[in-house]
Amino acid sequence: MPIRLLSSEVASQIAAGEVIERPASVVKELLENSLDAGARSISITIEEAGKKLIEVADDGSGIPSSELELAVARHATSKLARSDELFSISTLGFRGEALASIGSVSRMTITSRVRDEQEGARLRVEGGVSGKLTKVGTTVGTTVRVEDLFYNVPARLKFLKSDVTERRAIDLLVTRYALAYPDRRFKLADGKNVVLQTAGDGDRRAILAALYGVDVARQMLEIQSGEEGAGLTGFISPTSLTRSNRKEITFFINGRWVHDVSLSTALLQAYHTLLMVGRYPLTALFLEIAPEEVDVNVHPAKAEVRFRNQDKVFSFVQRSARRALLAYSPVPNVAPSLWGTTRTIPSEPPRYTGLDWAIGHDEELTVNNERLTVDSPPSVTPENTSIANRQSSTGTPNARAGVENRIPLLRLIGQIGATYLVAEGPDGLYLVDQHAAHERVLFEKLMAQHAMKNIPSQALLTPVAVTLPPHSANLLITQLPVLQRFGFEVEEFGPHTFQVRAMPALFMGSDPSFALRALVEDFEEDEAPLQNEVEARLAARVCKRMAVKAGQALSNEEQRALLHDLEACDSPRTCPHGRPTMIHLSVDMLERQFGRRGAR
Ligand code: ADP
Ligand code: MG
Repeated sequence: MPIRLLSSEVASQIAAGEVIERPASVVKELLENSLDAGARSISITIEEAGKKLIEVADDGSGIPSSELELAVARHATSKLARSDELFSISTLGFRGEALASIGSVSRMTITSRVRDEQEGARLRVEGGVSGKLTKVGTTVGTTVRVEDLFYNVPARLKFLKSDVTERRAIDLLVTRYALAYPDRRFKLADGKNVVLQTAGDGDRRAILAALYGVDVARQMLEIQSGEEGAGLTGFISPTSLTRSNRKEITFFINGRWVHDVSLSTALLQAYHTLLMVGRYPLTALFLEIAPEEVDVNVHPAKAEVRFRNQDKVFSFVQRSARRALLAYSPVPNVAPSLWGTTRTIPSEPPRYTGLDWAIGHDEELTVNNERLTVDSPPSVTPENTSIANRQSSTGTPNARAGVENRIPLLRLIGQIGATYLVAEGPDGLYLVDQHAAHERVLFEKLMAQHAMKNIPSQALLTPVAVTLPPHSANLLITQLPVLQRFGFEVEEFGPHTFQVRAMPALFMGSDPSFALRALVEDFEEDEAPLQNEVEARLAARVCKRMAVKAGQALSNEEQRALLHDLEACDSPRTCPHGRPTMIHLSVDMLERQFGRRGAR
């Protein structure tokens, strides 16, 4: 084939591929345009997760009729004139690419009017081809209507995730922008159903409540911190409020939502030693710095930035967050502690000189430099690398490898630190982590009932109402049948609010809202939460939330019942997440430690 220039349609489709990946990218570009136009009020309507329709209407400055055709051309922008301005950008847009890109992969109609003109104008672009400009009567501002996104790029359509996921991406995006611009009014509607509406009165905490729910919003810690040339405002979660992934770490830089791994790292450093392994904070942080200090022209969708003085920005973020954390919450004891929940997995085995009881159960136990046997089968995920695993990898044969998984009958001695049960078996002493053990017990019972398709459900005396953030609520609605299979009777009860009327008899006496939130958290992490193996994970998560906690004193009967139930488990030696439920000090080991046997 001879070399030739791409037709402008093909070229803009290629360019569009970089900017417009999914419906949420369209919403983002249009929102940014409205914000740049100084809109006080922005209304977004979507249908079929944005695939059928995305409409963004604003009351901003509008586009003069004479410029409307230019606005949809590639590399056409009113925000940048000279190349040196690229390094001091104060608008969200500057590439002049969004409208052209969107127009090339959809049927787009722009209607706009500026204050000085009596009439507005309308222009339709279909698959990159503009129609005729028509005059229309309309209010000041701009409305962009995007229909049939990717109708002419079927391959793109195939890459889209489920409607639930795409809709959630839009929800999250709009809510975050609403939070970043609390003085503008945002409204997001899915068809006729209003998903989010903000007052535009500058009250960020109210928007936070829409994003995370009232309970969470109340707990979030506010940050207001300034330093020469930089300001940081927003919210971070206290150490008691965490998520299992980084998805809820949000950063805006000069009003622009960015994904910056190193900024999140700086933030996580502020939480260092305050969070459990594998837990992450929720944050919505807004960093303001001089436009010259940040290069925003490094990513086609403007989602990444580069700082001129990266270290300075990071240490500012880290210090501000740390200060807020320390000011609001007392620092928990971070030393491995009988009471603490902080766990670290040391890269080097710690060298204890004696038997140190004060140790988290993920850590390697050593007594006089000799490793103790911890009875747990090799666990499945690398994150949960069990001690048994590490032993074999360090060359020490695992004495119990191959021994059947069941545990012998145990005689209860008692509870220590309201956290561990001490028991005697035919072969020595057992230390049982009550939380991990209870998790295992609940999990096996629930899964057994689930397998029989009969999870006994029990009605609550007083139904409990649980309010969730809109995106979680929408997700939960789609998953109500799964909940029912798990023995929950949950009904919609007002906007984003659910009423729990019954729950699995197994969990009776615990707070049903815990279970519901655990389930939602799981749904949110999964693209297709209906598969079978996912149900086991779901069950594991609920059981984790419902299990007795470390630090909870148990009666003698409760302790005995727990041990008894554990003996009946198929895999009593690990919790459903693969961590050990018990440490076994064999008679043999005890004898050697006390110098009764062997030469040491
Ligand atoms: P960019 O935002 O990078 O300039 P776009 O393709 O998104 O490029 O928009 C092109 C131009 O159209 C903008 O520079 C702006 O002048 C105008 N425009 C787009 N959307 C709006 C809007 N909602 N209100 C006013 N002007 C707009
Ligand atoms: Mg733009």
